[in-house]
Parts: sequence; structure tokens; C-alpha cells
Amino acid sequence: MTEAVSFRGVSRYFGSVRAVDGVDLDIRDGEFFAMLGPSGSGKTTCLRLIAGFEQPTAGDIKIYGEQAAGVPPYRRNVNTVFQSYALFPHMNVRDNVAFGLRVKGAGKPERHKAAEDALAMVELAGFGDRRAGELSGGQRQRVALARALVNKPKVLLLDEPLGALDLKLREQMQEELRSLQRALGLTFVFVTHDQDEALSMADRVAVFANGKMQQVGTAEDIYRRPNSRFVADFVGSSNVVPADFVGAGPHDRWASLRPEDIRLDPLGHEAVVTSRAFHGRVIKLGLKLGNQSLTALIPATETLPQPGDKVRVGWDRARVHVMGNGA
Ligand code: ATP
Repeated sequence: MTEAVSFRGVSRYFGSVRAVDGVDLDIRDGEFFAMLGPSGSGKTTCLRLIAGFEQPTAGDIKIYGEQAAGVPPYRRNVNTVFQSYALFPHMNVRDNVAFGLRVKGAGKPERHKAAEDALAMVELAGFGDRRAGELSGGQRQRVALARALVNKPKVLLLDEPLGALDLKLREQMQEELRSLQRALGLTFVFVTHDQDEALSMADRVAVFANGKMQQVGTAEDIYRRPNSRFVADFVGSSNVVPADFVGAGPHDRWASLRPEDIRLDPLGHEAVVTSRAFHGRVIKLGLKLGNQSLTALIPATETLPQPGDKVRVGWDRARVHVMGNGA
């Protein structure tokens, strides 16, 4: 099967800055693919390389099997939704959505019909005559989406599209985006620095740091089997401890143990509680076990240990993931 997007040895340097550094990547047709990483890790540059707003310094990009080199952005089968939305506030919603078609020279009835269809997809039928500047944040986000969909791209590139929304709306839009993607069967490439967002929405997640792709896999792969300390720390919170400490092998290896996998266990190891924070359904305990500091997430029960208390804790060996030499 042809991949939607493939990178082979792709780099993009800006002077001495290696924004993207030797990335090999395959994004499958119809998949919801998230690029996750801290600020400056190269996610946006990857997206811009796919869009054609940037050219690689080295390497090869294919979009549905075709060489991307030399193909201008408007002739690629991709469209971008920016975080800023980049709407024209004085224009009405329909004209905003149809803008790209006008630039391409489509006639008015055709533009009108396509814009109305795209607005219906994002559940904004009937909003065409409103001015973009009069819409709420969530509605603007949908208009920006409709404006990308109107071009019928095969790949939709989304750069932190929900970054400007408050938490409630953001969660709602996450679900809407996911179901829209399923319904349309398009390939979505989604950039975010929010690990919860990446894990909950994407079929597969690529984790970036320093311009390099550190790991790619399903949310569960990345969370359960991080391949490095960086991924273990960045994706969820993790206790990264020497492997021998958790009974998982020789000392020169590192292991990750998720806080929610540590439990109170009368037959377990003795630990001292160093901190406690209430989070509703769970409490977060800081623990000291010998010289090792650990974080545990424990279901909130009536008997909540206090800082200074001694408790006994244990974990299931199967939940310990050994990562190699701690790279
Ligand atoms: P963020 O989440 O903050 O957007 P990011 O992971 O998307 O970060 P990029 O925007 O891809 O990261 O940037 C990667 C690196 O490349 C950064 O160090 C950035 O400063 C640098 N960079 C990106 N674009 C340019 C440019 N046009 N000129 C010079 N340096 C750039």
C-alpha cells in the first residue's frame, strides 16, 4: 500500500540549527498521526516540509508515492490548518471558506456550493453569512477546518489547531476532530506538545526531540514501552530508575515504572511519604524508598497517608519497562 507521506533521511537546517535532523517516517493512508515534542523539537518544520512551505536540506519526501521536491504547496494534495486560524475577520464565513477556490479561479456557484458543503461537515451549516470576526473561538476553529476541507485534500496538516481554546472546548473539539477524521477517512497529521492530546486522539504518535524522531508507535507502545528516558519522561510522568532497583536486571540499565503502577501493598517495600497531593479520584504521593525518590498515584481511599508516614508499596514486575542504557 502506498504511504500517504514518507520521509527518507530528511533534514532541514537553518544555519547551524538542525531543526529536522535525519528523519525517516511513514504516515499511512487514512491514519490520524500525531507529532509530539517539546517546543523547538522540529514538529512544525516537519509539517511545513510536508506542506511544501519549506524545502529539505537533505533527504527525500514522497506524498502518495510522488516525489514532493519541486511541487509547489498549492499543487500538493495537502492542506494546513494553523493554530492562528488566519481567517479574514471582515469577510463572511462563506467567503473565508471559499477563498482558496477563488484564488484557483472557480466560479461563484461552484465556490458557494463547495463552501456550504464544507461548512456542513464541520456542523456550521447556516453560518455562511456571519462575519468571521463575530464567531466564538470554537466556531472559528471549525471555519478554519472547513477552509482546508473545501480543497478536498487527501492529507490535512494541523499545527496545534486547538492551542487557542480553553480546556473544555479543547476536549470537545478533540472528539469532534477525531470523529470528523474517521467519517471523512482523510489522513490527519497533527502537531501538538500536549501528550494527553496526542495519546488520546492519534492512531500513532511520533515523539520528537532536537530535530530527531525518538520513537514512533501506537499510544500504548509509546506509553508502555518508551525506548528512552526522554520518551518515558515526556510522555506521561514516569519513574525512571535503575533496573536493578525494581528487580528488572543489571544496574547499567534504566527502567520506567509509571506512578499509577505503584500500589500500597502490606507485603511490599517500606517507603516514607514525602509529599501528598489530592487530585479527586487519585492522590499523588511522593515517596522515598532508600535513596530513590518515586511518585505514586493511588486511588483516594479513606486512609490517606500523610507526609512523614511510613507505608509499604509494591508493583507488578510486568509493569516495569526496561529501556536499555539510559540514552
Ligand atoms: P513549537 O512547538 O515551539 O512550535 P516545534 O517543535 O514546532 O516548536 P520548530 O518550529 O520546527 O519546532 O523549530 C525547530 C527549530 O528550528 C527551532 O530551534 C527553531 O528556532 C528553528 N527554526 C524553525 N524555523 C526557523 C527559521 N525559519 N529560521 C531559523 N530557525 C528556525
